[in-house]
Amino acid sequence: MNSYDVAIIGSGPGGYVAAIRCAQLGMKTAIIEKYSVLGGTCLNVGCIPSKALLDSSHHYEDAVKHFEEHGIDIPGDVKVNLKQMIARKQSVVDQTTGGIDFLMKKNKIDVYQGLGSFKDATHILIKGEKEEEIEAKNIIIATGSKPSSLPFINIDKERIITSTEALKLTEIPKHLIVIGGGVIGLELGQVYKRLGAEVSVIEYMDRIIPTMDAGLSKELNKVLKKQKFKINTSHKVKSVERKGDEVIVKADNKKGEEVEFKGDYCLVSVGRRPYTDGLNAEAAGVKLTERGQIEVNDNLQTNVSNIYAIGDVVKGAMLAHKASEEGSFVAEVIAGQKPHINYNLIPGVVYTWPEVASVGKTEEQLKEAGVEYKTGQFPMRALGRSRASMDLDGFVKILADKNTDEVLGVHMVGARAADMIAEAVVAMEYKASAEDISRMSHAHPTFAEATKEAALAATEDRALHI
Ligand code: FAD
Ligand code: NAD
Repeated sequence: MNSYDVAIIGSGPGGYVAAIRCAQLGMKTAIIEKYSVLGGTCLNVGCIPSKALLDSSHHYEDAVKHFEEHGIDIPGDVKVNLKQMIARKQSVVDQTTGGIDFLMKKNKIDVYQGLGSFKDATHILIKGEKEEEIEAKNIIIATGSKPSSLPFINIDKERIITSTEALKLTEIPKHLIVIGGGVIGLELGQVYKRLGAEVSVIEYMDRIIPTMDAGLSKELNKVLKKQKFKINTSHKVKSVERKGDEVIVKADNKKGEEVEFKGDYCLVSVGRRPYTDGLNAEAAGVKLTERGQIEVNDNLQTNVSNIYAIGDVVKGAMLAHKASEEGSFVAEVIAGQKPHINYNLIPGVVYTWPEVASVGKTEEQLKEAGVEYKTGQFPMRALGRSRASMDLDGFVKILADKNTDEVLGVHMVGARAADMIAEAVVAMEYKASAEDISRMSHAHPTFAEATKEAALAATEDRALHI
């Protein structure tokens, strides 16, 4: 039987990063993945394929809506070749997952393909093409998550679908009904909206992206409405039925009236659930929370001292970069180091266009905590860079402590906000004040100038270009 210092179950951005860091720290490391391809949700059916389709559909929309104004005439009609779009997406996925194979080899990590299940706290059975057993002093559970649904919905994976199927449709929906106005619903809704589908979003809460700063929800809602999304907030879905090629969704609106939506596809994107099926955690004595997550302490250690858990299967934001930070963290804990993760500074991004990005506290959180704060906001449309590319929507908002000027939260909607948020993360990691940011030179013309201007506005209401 092969014996390891560390065995990791699951090869998503949590698991594979943990494996690399363990190997870097000199530990004999194994990784177990039930699928034949490494990379988990993120690389196979999550971050990477969704961004590939967002990019392709963005190009199409630019060609149809904006090329003429830029002075680019295309003879004949611009057409979508969905088959090619999906094939390109798959080749991006294949290149990326192939990169993980390379990294495992480079770091001399043994890869086992098969479902890993605990035999006891130091032994894992692996059921793949053959059955194997390995032994490990330390085990990291990185089994991730799966789409969740509502009890009355039958996901048939044809017309009533999750994100996994939405990434490989063979036709463009005529009318896509999206249940859940969160990240997945809006990103994938926007892909098909750009390609020509009518898209209706049904959201239970009174605003889309309800966990982000309310100002971002409001701005994104406004922009999506301009893009002809039909957004229905405060709607409680009560039935989803398929009749042939038609899907009928019934919901109660705010007033309690029944509203019916008829479409040809329904994307269910109401969140994800931690995945522990087949893991047999009880054989090792590992405790789960009421929500089905693996219970961990601040060191991401379970109630069994040599077993750790990271990523979507534990508490916290279900984000790839959060999972990866936890992967490195746990490897370093096992190696006897004292690493730290600043969970307050894990940024959140929605890759719609304009993009939405956020870090730190929202206004709602500051109000609830009774923190005195000041706000500096700057609209993207006031930037030369925005006019040059015709990306006029959105703003940057900086929330700073009223007394100390320390930046407490940065929230933005706009072109390339996903990349711009990194500046805010760095600033906040080093406890910058709004004035600190306002005094740093920002290249001109860039979208990032909006961050400087918002910082100037937060400092003493002295934005320059408005
Ligand atoms: P996962 O990536 O889910 O990996 C877990 C792995 O464990 C899987 O490969 C699974 O097969 C394997 N596994 C499970 N049980 C066993 C077992 N018993 N034995 C062996 N193997 C097992 N996050 C972002 O930060 N940015 C984005 O842009 C983004 N976009 C997304 C888009 C979509 C459509 C979706 C669905 C998710 C997106 N996410 C995004 C979320 C991101 O994918 C997850 O947060 C991330 O993948 C979690 O990583 P993980 O390592 O915890 O788990
Ligand atoms: P989510 O939590 O972002 O959004 C789910 C939405 O569904 C919420 O707005 C919620 O209020 C709504 N909802 C819940 N129950 C409902 C009901 N009965 N009727 C109508 N609406 C209902 O979840 P998601 O969009 O499914 O994404 C799952 C996870 O994947 C998220 O945690 C997210 O962090 C991650 N993800 C991240 C990215 C990214 O970072 N860009 C992209 C995609 C997914």
